[in-house]
Amino acid sequence: MSVAKKISDSMNKSSFIRKMFEEGARLKAIHGAENVFDFSLGNPNLTPPAAFKTALAETAAESGEGTHSYMPNVGYPFVRKAVADYLTGEQKVTLSENEVIMTCGAAGALNVAFKTLLDPGDEVITPAPYFVEYNFYVDNHGGVMKTVPTLPDFNLDLDALSSAVTAKTKVMLINSPNNPTGQIYSRESLAALGDLLREKSRAFGRTIYLIADEPYRKIVYDGHTVPSIFEAYSESLIATSYSKDISVPGERIGFLAVHPKAAAKTELLGGLALSNRILGFVNAPALMQRVIGKIQGVTVDLSQYETNRKLFCEGLVDAGYEFTVPAGAFYLFPRTPIADDVAFVRELQEERILVVPGSGFGGPGHFRIAYCCSETSIVKSLPGFKKVMARYRS
Ligand code: PLP
Repeated sequence: MSVAKKISDSMNKSSFIRKMFEEGARLKAIHGAENVFDFSLGNPNLTPPAAFKTALAETAAESGEGTHSYMPNVGYPFVRKAVADYLTGEQKVTLSENEVIMTCGAAGALNVAFKTLLDPGDEVITPAPYFVEYNFYVDNHGGVMKTVPTLPDFNLDLDALSSAVTAKTKVMLINSPNNPTGQIYSRESLAALGDLLREKSRAFGRTIYLIADEPYRKIVYDGHTVPSIFEAYSESLIATSYSKDISVPGERIGFLAVHPKAAAKTELLGGLALSNRILGFVNAPALMQRVIGKIQGVTVDLSQYETNRKLFCEGLVDAGYEFTVPAGAFYLFPRTPIADDVAFVRELQEERILVVPGSGFGGPGHFRIAYCCSETSIVKSLPGFKKVMARYRS
């Protein structure tokens, strides 16, 4: 065997997703891309805000000593200062540049955090449904993923989370607004989670860290807001990126922020800097750091996602689908009318609709729609959604 057994196993496990993409490509070749309704990927379709393009042009024109050089592994101090100032307003906790580390997206941030925190066998607990890549990120660093089902409306089940904590638990990982459910955890449930982690850390005599993966924080609807994680718990880290809120996932820019009152802050920050280096990231892309340093607080125009969400919600209700209306992100996670979500997704494929089975996210009996897509594709797909559901309604 040419590749490592672990990678070979992972490739086999994700072969269904690969087959889905192959099927999508096959359908597009037959029917034309415009007649295949691809809602399978969370790849933002909106163009980045004008401020991003202006800052990019301006930054690309900059020259001078060190413009393209290595920098501290944690990133440019002036960029981290701009991020810290913005976060201070957002999190209602005062941060300095010393508590911010620029990373290669949220994925880079999570890998750096796990590399720093996990010893072999340490457990990472996450509520399900969850972003499927977490399994790989935790395993990359010798950790063990433990998933805990959420409540039927995808809110945190605090009793279940409490029961899952053991002497081996090192990290509680949450993602709000959530991929794939769109749920936002309330201030009250985050406060209760903070209490739970304080109590369990005391009981087991080791700090349990809370990592909040927040790349969808600025993509919210109907006046929802995302409560501050730093207000809820001091042994916490934010892992996030600009991938979704300014539509630049290919540019690989994000950051980690450590709570200014974390007990082992200095050691933690040293470990994160070293991990960013030795994982081979070295530092986040220089050009992108300088660009985002100039446009803190800028977000894509959310009106298109709002329109898409409304179109889907109305169309799916009309067709007889059941789902929790998402409060944020750009995903819907409806229930399938049969237990076998993979079979149901195949039926939708026959109508040239591409979505992902919920079992891929630890949420069987559901499927995920990514509505970061054109309005036309939604409108054209709705009869297909209705036709498939009609088989089960009668
Ligand atoms: N976390 C969640 C919940 C995501 O949905 C994604 C990407 O889809 C990531 C992390 C990774 O984001 P990035 O592209 O910034 O690495």
